[in-house]
Amino acid sequence: MIYSVIVDISVSEIDRIFDYKGEGYQVGSRVLVNFGNRKTEGYIIEEKLTTTCPPEKLKEIICCLDDFPVISPSLIELGSFMREQYHLRWVDVLRLFIPAEMRKNRVKELFKNQATLTDDNIDNILASLKSSAHKQRDLVTFLYKNGATLTEKLNAQFGNSALQSLVKKGFVTLSPVAVRRKPYSQLQVDNQQERTLMPAQQIAVDAILSSNGGKFLLHGVTGSGKTEVYLTVIERLVKQGKSCIMLVPEISLTPNMLRQLRQRFGDTVALLHSGLSTGERFDEWLRLKRGEAKIAIGARSAVFAPLSNIGAIIIDEEHDSSYISDFNPRYNTIEVAKYRANQSGACLVLGSATPSLGSFYDATHGKLQLLSMPDRINKRPLPTVEIVDMAMETRLGNRSIFSNTLKERLDETLKAGNQAMLFLNRRGYSSFLMCTKCGYVAKCTDCDVSLTVHREDNQLKCHYCGKHFYMLDQCPSCKEHSFKQGRIGTQQVVDLLSHMYPDVKVLRMDADTTSTKESHGKILQAFGNQEAQILVGTQMIAKGHDFPKVTLVGVLDGDQSLHHEDYLATERTFQLITQVAGRSGRDVVPGKVVLQTYTPTHYCLQYASRQDYNGFYKREISLRQASQFPPFAEIIRILYQGESEQECIDQLTVHFADLCNLKAECEDAFFYLDKMRCPLKRAEKKFRFQILLKVAPHQVDTLLPQIFFICDNKTKSGVQIFVERNPQNLS
Ligand code: ADP
Ligand code: ZN
Repeated sequence: MIYSVIVDISVSEIDRIFDYKGEGYQVGSRVLVNFGNRKTEGYIIEEKLTTTCPPEKLKEIICCLDDFPVISPSLIELGSFMREQYHLRWVDVLRLFIPAEMRKNRVKELFKNQATLTDDNIDNILASLKSSAHKQRDLVTFLYKNGATLTEKLNAQFGNSALQSLVKKGFVTLSPVAVRRKPYSQLQVDNQQERTLMPAQQIAVDAILSSNGGKFLLHGVTGSGKTEVYLTVIERLVKQGKSCIMLVPEISLTPNMLRQLRQRFGDTVALLHSGLSTGERFDEWLRLKRGEAKIAIGARSAVFAPLSNIGAIIIDEEHDSSYISDFNPRYNTIEVAKYRANQSGACLVLGSATPSLGSFYDATHGKLQLLSMPDRINKRPLPTVEIVDMAMETRLGNRSIFSNTLKERLDETLKAGNQAMLFLNRRGYSSFLMCTKCGYVAKCTDCDVSLTVHREDNQLKCHYCGKHFYMLDQCPSCKEHSFKQGRIGTQQVVDLLSHMYPDVKVLRMDADTTSTKESHGKILQAFGNQEAQILVGTQMIAKGHDFPKVTLVGVLDGDQSLHHEDYLATERTFQLITQVAGRSGRDVVPGKVVLQTYTPTHYCLQYASRQDYNGFYKREISLRQASQFPPFAEIIRILYQGESEQECIDQLTVHFADLCNLKAECEDAFFYLDKMRCPLKRAEKKFRFQILLKVAPHQVDTLLPQIFFICDNKTKSGVQIFVERNPQNLS
């Protein structure tokens, strides 16, 4: 038999299929093969009877590396789709489908010894033991009562020698068992109370379950009970023997969703995300692969969960930009999920209080079925939003980041024993350090990014590449000792609060406080248990969380993302503010929101303050149409990165000429074509340039292969080229 193998080496020159011969292998297996003059891993993606490879050159597969095929045929098919759609290398796609450390066998199942009694009749054993051998007798009794037990536990309880003696005497045998490394094993799981669905929830559930592979947009305001819809759908499908995938946008949201899933489904739930330990990730993956777990939950990569017979793929907070991968391999999770759902006739449910404009447009044009839940559970009111004009505050002499209104509301909230969340999408202490004399701004040596001041370890940090630098006490340029700091970050907000409210406990949640594995869960649990009254955080706190005691949300800088040049800026800001406002007043006490801004009349903030999605949608979609932006055009960006500026320019110039020719051939398909430096000019020592194209949506499928073909012409080996379709980040 001939097998088509993709070798596990990620360079463009090797991105093709190599044929090997062998007998009895299965498609999807990870195998060891001779490649060049070394041995390397590879994946079988096809078996066939003939090959064009001359017989004397055809090598034999050395062996299979696992006792099961690691990639299913349907995932191979998905891989082939992604490869064409996103212009990816085979191997980069295949690597998405298995735990990273499985390659090169860096992770295995964990086996531990367990002890079992050899005789069911405990009296026989006890009669043969001396009455003075207390520990041995206790151990035997323990095993009799508890059944097979891990030796490490027995050794801790009864000492090593007791167990060894019993083994020697033949009363106990030891055998290896696989032990599961379970993520978030400490997560509090309460008893799940039975719930009757509200009418709107029932309608949504019925529509989804009766659809037989339908595609839905569940548009429900914050607190409308979308989660309950997801859980009910999953429950029904799992009862029918199907499996489900549930995606949440960020790792910070997984503990919360995981808790709810475990409450209802116990160990049939497996968690997949990059924040787990190697062993945990592998074990969770294996449980899904073996069918021991039927429900996969995680961030975007969980869309590749090794499940068969999928009944539903649910994407919560579908508008979130994290669903679009912006590094290699670049892909759009929602498109991937659609393909996977089609493969297995599964339903696709996209849920959000603030759907992406594209999804809502699809829903109004019949590509998605719209399900609306316009009310909060029990008709609880949406929070009332007060917009505070910060320019006015300054004029009135208040230069603090807290407006007087926000201070008043905070006082009231704390006095009433309720909780508040303060949102500021800027971590660190302050956003830059500038010399007051010469205007020098501290920048990263590798990136075109100003450094953020961090007070906790008194360092300057690059938020792009993570590099740390010593704090400056003297300007390197003019030797002056006086500095001005940039805009306030979350660290400083916590500092200020501790002076304003010395007795109030404040928690902070941002990338700096959540670098360890389970820290998200711990902070959220502490806040949920009311160990603190105020939670300060970045966009990590904006979505999904449901804290009944939170009655006040403060948006400290409502303008932060609004004035980017990016066409997505208004949509993003609307989503973020609506989402974060939605954390307030989710229980009996009505919620309040204070939205601080320098542009109080901006339509985006006005609609967000009324949480009027439909109003915002109408206005924004007509702007997009008039200016030819998605969904009325597809944006394609070709990104060039390299350490040599000239090489980048040379490479770009070659492609640009070809693209101009292409444009001349089909003028009406192109709305725009130009080349430029990226807004972020340099990152991680590499210069960055881009070609931007806007093309007609109905032409994109014919144009893309031609664009890919042009970009395959690589003349400069030191330049990385990436083609991105509708990138979420144009920096
Ligand atoms: P969303 O995801 O839409 O923001 P959630 O799913 O978090 O909303 O639900 C909001 C609140 O309403 C939660 O506290 C949830 O427990 C509660 N809830 C949801 N469905 C019901 C129901 N059918 N009956 C009573 N309470 C419900
Ligand atoms: Zn940097």
